[in-house]
Amino acid sequence: MSFDPASIREDFPILASEVNGRPLVYLDNAATSQTPRQVLDASRHYYEAVNANIHRGTHHLARAATAAHEEARQAVARHLNAASSDEVIFTSGTTDGINLVANILGGELGAGDEVLISTLEHHSNIVPWQMLCERSGASLKVIPCHDDGTLDLDAFHQLLGGRTRVLALTWISNAFGTVNPVAEMTAAAKRAGARVLIDAAQAVPHLPVDVQALGADFLAFSGHKVYAPTGIGVLWGRREVLDELPPWRGGGEMIKEVRFEGTTYNDLPFKYEAGTPNIEGAIALAAALAWADAIGLDTIHRHEEQLLARAADALSGIAGVRLYGPRRRAGALSFAIEGVHHYDLGTLIDQMGVAVRTGHHCCQPLMARFGVTGTTRASVACYNTAEEIDTLASCVEKAAMMLK
Ligand code: PMP
Repeated sequence: MSFDPASIREDFPILASEVNGRPLVYLDNAATSQTPRQVLDASRHYYEAVNANIHRGTHHLARAATAAHEEARQAVARHLNAASSDEVIFTSGTTDGINLVANILGGELGAGDEVLISTLEHHSNIVPWQMLCERSGASLKVIPCHDDGTLDLDAFHQLLGGRTRVLALTWISNAFGTVNPVAEMTAAAKRAGARVLIDAAQAVPHLPVDVQALGADFLAFSGHKVYAPTGIGVLWGRREVLDELPPWRGGGEMIKEVRFEGTTYNDLPFKYEAGTPNIEGAIALAAALAWADAIGLDTIHRHEEQLLARAADALSGIAGVRLYGPRRRAGALSFAIEGVHHYDLGTLIDQMGVAVRTGHHCCQPLMARFGVTGTTRASVACYNTAEEIDTLASCVEKAAMMLK
């Protein structure tokens, strides 16, 4: 039996919105997914019944908030199959997690060392490494991609060597939906002695993730792409690696003892969580992962794959349409229409109620590789329907005729 998205759409009040008198067709999920009532209820319950600062309080609410926050950490650890919840660091999102890692690895890199990334990376998995290279004298190397938007794995194996200190790789391309063979690439990088960070911003919403099976050292994702609010995310890091690396931000909670002569640092995970965290966000993230787990990430993945295949078939039947990325995609599909600017297309179909994203998708080097300034991207979540995909295709066809 295939999964029926109608059964869950009622959890999302926003999906019943109208735009210009037409039902909203929300296909911008790679930027931000919508939030189900169950998650909104968890946020509301937190502020109505639990709100207090965590960890140091002796009073009832402080203890309740601390317990709820730490239960959320355990829930995230279970979702990721982490060996311990101490490996789950709450961040503000993927960008924050990657910057954290790029900073704590700083002391390990020097002139002659290399950081390896790929052409498919989001700016947030490029710029922190460029900044690290500037600071440390290391150089940035880039795995090229083929014309179908898959990585050139021969080039990867050639680039990987004794100088590679870090491999920072996206699991799924937010621009093209390419699914990288991260487990295989991680294993190769580990054999070469590199630290491995996986940008899972687009993986956690669309695939079951098992960090122990993956074998990387770090994995970062954002709540707001997996049915949770903005401003919360996770950096998972292997305990023995994080234990040996220095802290980054200094402040309350990340310390054991502070004296003017010197400070000792807290144990994991608090060592990397300076200051008051987004307590409600962590609780809401746990609720969002529980909501998604109740459907099952395998089920979500299969449903979304069917939607993207349907979109690829329908769009490729429209005159002048070029699709980017391989046939097997997850989450997102990028396309362009000859002679039509992506921005005009996006603006026109928005008037028909269809929300897609246009532009470079924070992947300017990838766009440059394909000789374009941007694309139009439709990105799906589990609540999208086959009918919505058909609406997308018919609106794109209409808009293309009007714009040509
Ligand atoms: N990496 C990828 C692959 C992404 O899709 C995004 C968000 N578009 C990010 C990183 C950055 O995520 P955030 O803005 O939530 O930090």
